[in-house]
Amino acid sequence: PTDLNALADEYLRLAYHGLRAKDKNFNASLITNLSEQVGKVDVLPQDMGRVLLNLFTNAFYAVQQKQKLNGDAQYQPTVTVSTKRCDEEVEIRVRDNGVGIPESVRSKIFQPFFTTKPTGEGTGLGLSLAFDIITKGHGGTMEVETEEGKGTEFIIRVPV
Ligand code: ADP
Ligand code: MG
Repeated sequence: PTDLNALADEYLRLAYHGLRAKDKNFNASLITNLSEQVGKVDVLPQDMGRVLLNLFTNAFYAVQQKQKLNGDAQYQPTVTVSTKRCDEEVEIRVRDNGVGIPESVRSKIFQPFFTTKPTGEGTGLGLSLAFDIITKGHGGTMEVETEEGKGTEFIIRVPV
């Protein structure tokens, strides 16, 4: 059994510090909304950690990109992770207020090797791997809600 809240918190910080190690000027707000109803869950920590790390890495990339693009001094890059328990499921949401995903790209993001990032910055494997781990590995679901220019939220539900 894995403490999902601890894992979410740890990997959010890990992803943020990884990015800051390369770009000292980058600052983002990290928000954690972790429900105490989410106790220990029967998932492999290395699998769920990999899913979370992929989602957080994408989220930080998206906010960093938005900051570079719009030059708005008021913009506060923010990445939020939330957990909650509903009946026989746990839900994890990873949200960012970054660039969002254009309509034309949305249907492809879970395909292996699909990336919009420059060579060396993305393999296009993160989301396809995450999707397989959640759906095939844990019998769960993974959905995305996004608005171009506003941000993106990934919603994972795993039966417990
Ligand atoms: P990679 O990060 O290596 O490009 P992923 O499978 O993790 O591969 O993501 C595929 C594509 O989905 C990204 O290149 C990007 O276009 C889009 N994407 C994923 N997450 C986000 C996000 N949080 N905000 C905006 N675009 C995203
Ligand atoms: Mg990625």
